[in-house]
Amino acid sequence: MEDLMEEIRQFNKERDWDKFHSPENLAKSIAIESGELLECFQWNSNYNKDEVCEELADVFTYCIQMSMKLGVDPKEIILKKLDKTRKKYPVEKAKGVSTKYNKL
Ligand SMILES: [Mg+2]
Repeated sequence: MEDLMEEIRQFNKERDWDKFHSPENLAKSIAIESGELLECFQWNSNYNKDEVCEELADVFTYCIQMSMKLGVDPKEIILKKLDKTRKKYPVEKAKGVSTKYNKL
């Protein structure tokens, strides 16, 4: 993960783009790229895996940049949230069902 973060940091430094990456702009970029990912599935469930992977990479890249900007470790916040979600969706109630936690 550190190598990846350094690669992204270097990419932005070379282009002097860090000045554009406020948390607000990164949040907007995550939403925009998520929309592009969704567009890959517009109208039918057929999709081009290469195109999906490109949009997924865009989403990941902006998410990683957001964590860098906030000074948090992506792995740490994901595991923390997963633990919280694990408590909201105990296996004995949630296994095999897609019901929202407040209706389990
Ligand atoms: Mg894109």
